[in-house]
Amino acid sequence: MTDRYAVFGHPIAHSKSPLIHAAFAHQTGQDMTYEAILAPLDGFADSVAAFVAAGGRGANVTVPFKEAAFKIAQRLSPRAARAGAVNTLSFAADGILGDNTDGAGLIADLTRNLKRTLAGQRILLLGAGGAARGVLEPLLEQQPATLVIANRTLSRAEELATLFGHGIRAATFEAADTPFDVVINATAASLAGELPPLSPRIFGADTLAYDMMYGRDTPFLDFARAHGAATADGLGMLVEQAAEAFYLWRCVRPDTTAVIASLRA
Ligand code: NDP
Repeated sequence: MTDRYAVFGHPIAHSKSPLIHAAFAHQTGQDMTYEAILAPLDGFADSVAAFVAAGGRGANVTVPFKEAAFKIAQRLSPRAARAGAVNTLSFAADGILGDNTDGAGLIADLTRNLKRTLAGQRILLLGAGGAARGVLEPLLEQQPATLVIANRTLSRAEELATLFGHGIRAATFEAADTPFDVVINATAASLAGELPPLSPRIFGADTLAYDMMYGRDTPFLDFARAHGAATADGLGMLVEQAAEAFYLWRCVRPDTTAVIASLRA
């Protein structure tokens, strides 16, 4: 019988996840379907329950339901527990398992696709929302020399710095004004076509500026480029987090390179 998977979000029509998982399934010969489901803003848990009752085996979860997914999970992977957010659900006989593959996706894109070594590097993470929470532990595992979280609301950055420890520093955007090796934009500013009030001094000769947003150029990437940084968008992260979810469900690792290239084309 064909196994059913889905992505839940609101909105969801724009999602590239069905395309990505269809490509993975085709490539690895897995008998599965993957659909996009628009869950009502106040009806995420009911939508998931209906999907499970209809035979669903697993699901991805995107904006704005990652915290709701965390709440309905009966068991959590350690990385999801730490992140406080879930983007991957597996439905098994013994209940719902919640995981978070966003961080693994970012690290795979930075290190494998973009060939950046993060150990010993100075990293600036912009934003303190769900995406930032999800990537902090995997970033720390890479053992950077410095990790600074800068956020519009300083108290949220401070909260994360305290929660994750390891000498993470919290700052306002304006207070971060020395060069970093990697600057990751995990704010939602790009969604609104806005640029956080950043100092150009965060970019050095060899800085990589990475925007988690994908699909179009952003004011952040334009600003970084204008100040000499190399740039990358979040499409690779999107495909890599999907590959990690696919592996959790199917125990097969798809080849992501061809899928990223075809989405870019
Ligand atoms: P959240 O709503 O949880 O967090 C939003 C963050 O952005 C907060 O830190 C908020 O600051 C900050 N922010 C919002 N608007 C502005 C602004 N105009 N100027 C400066 N800061 C702002 O969102 P997520 O963390 O879930 O998502 C963040 C981004 O990451 C989105 O663009 C999303 O699409 C992308 N993403 C991409 C993924 C991928 O696979 N490529 C995976 C996950 C996310 P404050 O605390 O002050 O409100």
